Amino acid sequence: MGLKIPPEIKFAQKIVRRHQLVPPFSVKEIIEKYATVIFDDIPGVDGVSLNIKVPDKTPTVVVNSTAPKVRQRFTMAHELGHIIIPWHIGTLIADVADGIELSQSEHEAAYAYWELEKEANRFAAELLMPQEWLSEQVPRYENIAELHEFVVKQCNVSAWTSAIKLALSLPPHIVFCAESNNEIQYSGRSEGTFANPLLKGSFFSKDLFPDSYYPYSTDHYTWRSGGNNIHWWRLPSTIDSTTTDIRNWKKIQEDIIVDISYSGNITELKHSLNGIIGSANSMYMRLGDDYNAEGLVAACMQRFHNRDEVTKFVEHPDFKIFLQKRAVDIINKALSK
Ligand SMILES: [Zn+2]
Repeated sequence: MGLKIPPEIKFAQKIVRRHQLVPPFSVKEIIEKYATVIFDDIPGVDGVSLNIKVPDKTPTVVVNSTAPKVRQRFTMAHELGHIIIPWHIGTLIADVADGIELSQSEHEAAYAYWELEKEANRFAAELLMPQEWLSEQVPRYENIAELHEFVVKQCNVSAWTSAIKLALSLPPHIVFCAESNNEIQYSGRSEGTFANPLLKGSFFSKDLFPDSYYPYSTDHYTWRSGGNNIHWWRLPSTIDSTTTDIRNWKKIQEDIIVDISYSGNITELKHSLNGIIGSANSMYMRLGDDYNAEGLVAACMQRFHNRDEVTKFVEHPDFKIFLQKRAVDIINKALSK
């Protein structure tokens, strides 16, 4: 995607190359080449690193032996990050456990303010799921849920950690979420996707499913992991922009507003519609694809769904025609300049 590779990722890639690591591999064997590793019951703490970059001393890493195995593995990879990344200096780094199942908010709350922790986490994710290896697996699977399950098993990582990493390797226009107990547990999207991920903590209804979530998606894949249902959707990058409807977009907009007996402030609604179309248009232009009506309809479709303020408007049967007309109008105006 032409993104700059962060230095901590490059350090992880160096370790992957040096030891020719291909999942599955033993992280313990690798970290033992760099540190003395002790497994002990250290309540409330994932791991501790001592004597990092202290001259003439071998670092010591203590891993909480009561944590689940998958978590201990991630901790070892994380502590190796502290040992390898040159600017991680200190005699002692303690990594406070933030809950058994690493959820998005817990993780963010514990780590967001500490840049070194995020770097060690990105180092760990790259070590356990090397980008190069991952990009070889992506084209092998049409079904993203199967790909995800394969990565989780092969790399022995949590579904959440691997979903975040996997999303970085997937093409644009893909969203995912994990839900259980009618609630979104975590979510995300691949680079270049216009649609927002479903909000963490928001209500997820099985009764409404699948029609209420990305109903315009081209594919939906699902699997189960750790009590969560994990969903992946492929969204269209283009949608046909031709229609036989003779009305212009303004007329269609008026007709829909009348049809849905909109009870709120109509000026504000129109303002919202314009705002969403404007943001979809600029996101689409920034992506740098061919600028055409088919692409703009798809971009708008992705931006419009799962927004409370325009739900009724979006659910109207003529909504797509409205977008088609609007997109053609915008493109024609842009091209005539
Ligand atoms: Zn740490």
